[in-house]
Amino acid sequence: MILHFRISLITLFLTAPLAAQSAPPCAQHDMKCPAPPVIDASPVGAPVPPPSDAVVLFDGKSLAEWRKGDGSPAQWLVKNGYMEVAPGKGGIQTAKSFGDVQLHVEWASPNPPKGTGQDRGNSGVFLMGRYEVQVLDSYGNSTYPDGQAAALYGQFPPLVNASRKPGEWQSYDIVFRRPRFDPSGALLSPATFTVFHNGVLVQDAVGLTGVTAHTGRPPYEAHPDRLPISLQDHQHPVRFRNIWLRELER
Ligand code: MG
Repeated sequence: MILHFRISLITLFLTAPLAAQSAPPCAQHDMKCPAPPVIDASPVGAPVPPPSDAVVLFDGKSLAEWRKGDGSPAQWLVKNGYMEVAPGKGGIQTAKSFGDVQLHVEWASPNPPKGTGQDRGNSGVFLMGRYEVQVLDSYGNSTYPDGQAAALYGQFPPLVNASRKPGEWQSYDIVFRRPRFDPSGALLSPATFTVFHNGVLVQDAVGLTGVTAHTGRPPYEAHPDRLPISLQDHQHPVRFRNIWLRELER
């Protein structure tokens, strides 16, 4: 009986899929949290063309798919195939709402760089407007690891620092699964992220503790199955181009 129980446990362990990581490795914003190793990502390539089933959110020409938080037209600068944060004009969000997605975003930090730590090339990609993949100039710029580029802000540092130099185009390829709630609003499964930064795996099926926040790690609150994706105005002229996604719930 005991032997059988042990074998069952082992069988379960060997056959269960890898559980998503769900406990942040350090206290929030802990400067003593080990810095992810710095690696040299591949050189900048041409923009990755959207596949045929993609929803194109920014093609380099127009902000038609974007709004301000209040629904009025987005006011970021568009030129030369990119859009640029207009500091003080506020974050922007997609006109449409999305749940589970594969999202491709390219971005570039201001060059020459200005400021240090969090005050250098800061922006962010917020899935469902509340789960942030941090955008930061993390090339030779130290900060708390859960706030550097490709961190799930305030929770999970990236596995490695694959940052390119300021001014060079970088990419995020994000697989996002929204949290699931039961009809009473109780959490069934957390939001999960898999993220590639410049083609390098930096978040591996990580389960968030709740919304990403500057202060604390608040618990989940039930929300709709589809919500806009937003980009942050953190007062820095960060650039974005070639943004597209594939919906994973159809
Ligand atoms: Mg940010």
